[in-house]
Amino acid sequence: MKNILVVGGAGYIGSHTCKSLFNKGYNPIVLDNLIYGHEDFVKWGDFILGDLSDVEQIRLIFKRYKIDAVMHFAAFAYVGESVAEPKKYYHNNVLATLNLLNVMLEFDVKYFIFSSTCATYGNPIYLPIDESHPQNPINPYGMSKLVVENILKDYTNAYNFKFVSLRYFNAAGCDPDCEIGENHEPETHLIPLVLDAALGKRDNVKIFGTDYDTRDGSAVRDYIHVLDLAEAHILALEYLYSGHDSDIFNLGNGQGFTVKEVIDCVKKITKCEFKVVEGGRRIGDPSSLIGSSDKIIKTLNWKPKYNTIESIIQTAWNWQKNL
Ligand code: UDP
Repeated sequence: MKNILVVGGAGYIGSHTCKSLFNKGYNPIVLDNLIYGHEDFVKWGDFILGDLSDVEQIRLIFKRYKIDAVMHFAAFAYVGESVAEPKKYYHNNVLATLNLLNVMLEFDVKYFIFSSTCATYGNPIYLPIDESHPQNPINPYGMSKLVVENILKDYTNAYNFKFVSLRYFNAAGCDPDCEIGENHEPETHLIPLVLDAALGKRDNVKIFGTDYDTRDGSAVRDYIHVLDLAEAHILALEYLYSGHDSDIFNLGNGQGFTVKEVIDCVKKITKCEFKVVEGGRRIGDPSSLIGSSDKIIKTLNWKPKYNTIESIIQTAWNWQKNL
């Protein structure tokens, strides 16, 4: 059984990927500092409490386990906070990642799967966004991910090192078995916030901007189920195992939904009414983000199983109503 070090494996996307890894016969080893992760989400493989700022601890993990590959999910990802505190973001998302990469080189571990983001593109100049779209991030979060992508390109050129970078669009939904799910503190993501309003845990949902140039004036996003994301990580790993070169892929559904459409869909699924408040735009939010995933579909034969917004929201509802 191959040991895969999953950094950030107690978080939302990391924990779902651990489940998928385990089901495919891999042994996930989770390293997580639990700032945003949940220890009870680590159900498949060993858990190590720790942080990438501690190089000696990373070395100890590589000494203790024969690590075959690394998946790196651990990052701060609050866009607004990244604008206010860029130091925190570059320290955690870039410097700590470099610590990890350099220990990988020391131990000659050469396979790396990186969680990147559509935020590296900045404001889109065309849709759907493909991988060759210019990358001009408009906030330090997106920039921190782009810096790492560039480091990875240099490392793969110079060293015995291969990576796949996956640029996620909006991760959503939960494990259909409800063993794990989405639980951010603070929660800023649309779908869990709307579901909380349906459950009466929030007074209302606020629409951030109703004057965008979209079909109903609210912003458009491309929602992708977290287990489809997880599956893509394993395909990416196996792509490298089979001898292919480093590469970068978008991960989205190729379809956009407005904030209002998401809210209507939640009302339909939950059969709950709640108050919706129209508010101003959130700073730094592009009007529409839709990804083209043609490259990963063609190259890795990736097929998203959850290709309707209803099916994605239904799994999130099944999880959240039992919290
Ligand atoms: N959004 C909203 N109200 C909320 C939270 C989010 O209208 O309470 C909007 C947000 O402006 C964006 C979309 O919903 O257009 C998705 O936001 P989310 O924070 O889930 O993901 P992001 O696209 O920022 O990564």
